[in-house]
Amino acid sequence: MNPESVLRRETYPLLINGEERLSATRASFSVINPSYGTHLAHVAEADVSDVDAAVQAAQHAFDTYWSRTSGRERSRLLRKLADALDRRREQLAWLETWNVGRPITLTRAAMQTMLDGIDYVAGVSQGIGGQTLNVADTSVVNFTLREPFGVVGLILPWNYPLTLTISKLMPVLAAGNTAVIKASEITPLSSVELGAAVLEAGFPPGVINIVHGPGATVGQALVEHPLVERISFTGGTITGKAIYRSAADRIKRVTLELGGKSPLIVFADADIDAAVSVALQDITKNTGQICVACTRLLVETPIVDVFTEKLRDAYRKIRVGLPEHEDTEMGPVVSRAQYERVNRCIANGQEEGATAEVMIDLSGRDELRNGFFVPPVLLTGTNNKMTVVQDEIFGPVQALMSFTGEDEAARIANDSRYGLAGVVYTRDAGRAMRMCKALKIGNLAINNPIKATVDAPFGGYKESGLGKERGIDAILENTQVKNVRFSMR
Ligand code: NDP
Repeated sequence: MNPESVLRRETYPLLINGEERLSATRASFSVINPSYGTHLAHVAEADVSDVDAAVQAAQHAFDTYWSRTSGRERSRLLRKLADALDRRREQLAWLETWNVGRPITLTRAAMQTMLDGIDYVAGVSQGIGGQTLNVADTSVVNFTLREPFGVVGLILPWNYPLTLTISKLMPVLAAGNTAVIKASEITPLSSVELGAAVLEAGFPPGVINIVHGPGATVGQALVEHPLVERISFTGGTITGKAIYRSAADRIKRVTLELGGKSPLIVFADADIDAAVSVALQDITKNTGQICVACTRLLVETPIVDVFTEKLRDAYRKIRVGLPEHEDTEMGPVVSRAQYERVNRCIANGQEEGATAEVMIDLSGRDELRNGFFVPPVLLTGTNNKMTVVQDEIFGPVQALMSFTGEDEAARIANDSRYGLAGVVYTRDAGRAMRMCKALKIGNLAINNPIKATVDAPFGGYKESGLGKERGIDAILENTQVKNVRFSMR
């Protein structure tokens, strides 16, 4: 497949009030293919008036239709959306591959997971409701209602554009809210095709709106719009803090899914090969651009040499290449800016005293010459105080450190402003349980990799975020509770 056969539109439009259209100013921006550094498509660039039109349409759809529908009707439409996406699954997989640089085998695999996720939300959301409470006053019936907020603004990053959008959007809609989505300006293409699927599924105009453009204008206009009651944001911690501050002005509800610097803690009694494979997959999958990726490898002193040697071996075998090739395991990073940032972080780490071990030489690979390819890098000789070990890099870079005993492992792991995720490998169940309690982390995996699945809550501690996405918690977070005292007198 080549880009021309996937890219079907001259200018990728906005979706406002059930209509695909260009922006009010007719402005557009260029989207780049990170594998070649070349232009991929033009996308309509919204301005503040387009954001306003999208929010007004969402409010109208909320007031006149969506908030009055039954859970069953909403679920029926969610499943129709899943069918419309299913019909486009090959095109969507290719759009993600061309736009993000993720290997086609992985973008294809993600499609089924995404469709299963819609099915899950469409099912469980129908069972969500309020409660009848046994209050002290027997002359009243006291019950609660779970009500939608109204218009929810969804702001997305570039690393998993489509799957993150769907996992945010489904609970928003299932709970009875309407949505205005802003994708990353780096990776907006799959969300435009999501818009086409929304139309095909038969959603009433305004229930789902999609606007494109820079965060500083379009994103901010969405956050500040007085009719937007709630913001669901995934992205960097600095942006998340700015959004939190803006939202505070009107006490808007927010869910923030932010950065991480997750530890992989490997005790001496662990299955070393399994732990190595987790480290490997976190650096390879999406070229390390994964919020939960274990980028701090903490290995107990007696096994540090054997672990490191096995990891070096595994790194050397990673198949870096063009993401359209079926045997490629690791593609480019998403943009020139990200390429420069990752390389700058590595250089800064070296200045701090770390050794950057580059196990794959890409210099002779002509086909990768113009793309944003970074070889996997293992930083050794590091300690947890270094900036390169504390800051999120969001690329194929891991730092390796050793520790002795549980207390030191927990102390180093917790010595981070982030608390998104972590993995522990040990065969001792008691120790695993003690580590579970000791780690200040929102998503923990014991003897298996971190996986954000649709049927379990996902969210960070500390500066990694606020609130939960996925699972039933995500649907509940998209509702507000009204308490009613109904007099029987
Ligand atoms: P950014 O924070 O740079 O951007 C995220 C989104 O916010 C983009 O759509 C961006 O617009 C928009 N934005 C930027 N400024 C504003 C603003 N002032 N008001 C409103 N919106 C704004 O993150 P990246 O896109 O670079 O994504 C990488 C980050 O995302 C990493 O830190 C990663 O850890 C985090 N992430 C967290 C996840 C989690 O679940 N915890 C999952 C995935 C990623 P634009 O860029 O288009 O200008």
